[in-house]
Amino acid sequence: MKKTPIDGYIAEHKTIFKTLRNIVKKYQKICIFRHIKPDYDALGCQFGLFTFLKENFPKKEIHQVGDTHPTFVPRLFPEPERLSNSWFDDEFLAIVVDVGDKDRIADPRFIKAKEVIKLDHHPFRAPDVSHFSLVDESTASCGEIVTAFVKSFAKTKVSPVAAKYLYTAIVGDSGRFLYSSTSPLTFSAASYLLDQGISLPELYLGMYEKDIADLTFQKYVLNHYSLTEHGVAYYLLSEEGLKELNIPSERGKEHVNMFANIKGIHIWCSITEDNDPKEPCWRISIRSKKLDISKVASHWGGGGHPQASGAKIKSLKELPAFLKELDDLI
Ligand code: AMP
Repeated sequence: MKKTPIDGYIAEHKTIFKTLRNIVKKYQKICIFRHIKPDYDALGCQFGLFTFLKENFPKKEIHQVGDTHPTFVPRLFPEPERLSNSWFDDEFLAIVVDVGDKDRIADPRFIKAKEVIKLDHHPFRAPDVSHFSLVDESTASCGEIVTAFVKSFAKTKVSPVAAKYLYTAIVGDSGRFLYSSTSPLTFSAASYLLDQGISLPELYLGMYEKDIADLTFQKYVLNHYSLTEHGVAYYLLSEEGLKELNIPSERGKEHVNMFANIKGIHIWCSITEDNDPKEPCWRISIRSKKLDISKVASHWGGGGHPQASGAKIKSLKELPAFLKELDDLI
């Protein structure tokens, strides 16, 4: 019988998966890390792997850390743990998921680990934080890689709870199987997870149900967006705008995809003021139909994928230059 794409993927990465499994088996203490300002993929991979390891290796001490999320936590994912510094003094393994960039790992204490392993789908950025890793830019989500990894363990079980987290990761980063990065592996990993007993209506309601106030937010975006000469659509959410809508800045990007599938719009962005005292700036989420926007994002203090990247500008004075670079791409 022909192998399913996920089994083909496991076979293709047999050696690295075996190395990673052996490292996991070796450690008594494990902590799982992911990127700051987490999305569905980061949290789904972290909690999917966390739940899987806790359920299948009950004698190990397994933890997860990072910043919280204003709407996904605790509704869809548990609170991040607050581990004391002394926990990291003993020998432990750090598993980093959905992030490669050292400065974007949500807790810097991964650096104290005896070994670091990483599963990621972001373009590689030096320095490599890990001793062993599987980095595959071709997957729509890191959730697919983590699903293949957990499936590669023998005599273990992926519970419905672990499967739900991983499915959420895949659905989140593939835009519900819509983005061009969606592949046979995406569906195959999702199919395997669905088989573990997930309730899809419940899961989708948890991810996508909105309250009435959200319509006000959508109305705001439609009333305030701008369009550049060549077809970059963007909306600005200043501190005042966020106050008016009663939302934290982390939620500013929520409606960026309103501009997907509109003829004449090739690139679209949300630009949200972030008054974080450590780094006040305007955070930008950039999306595109076809063009590779990741290089412009890197130039503006960010990075990401060809059609979905993040960037930042220090003040609105920089906005025209940033928009011109996107306009020039078109
Ligand atoms: P966002 O617009 O924040 O949803 O980010 C879109 C994609 O770009 C996600 O895969 C992020 O992980 C990635 N990304 C966002 N900000 C950065 C950054 N500063 N550096 C590298 N990648 C980023």
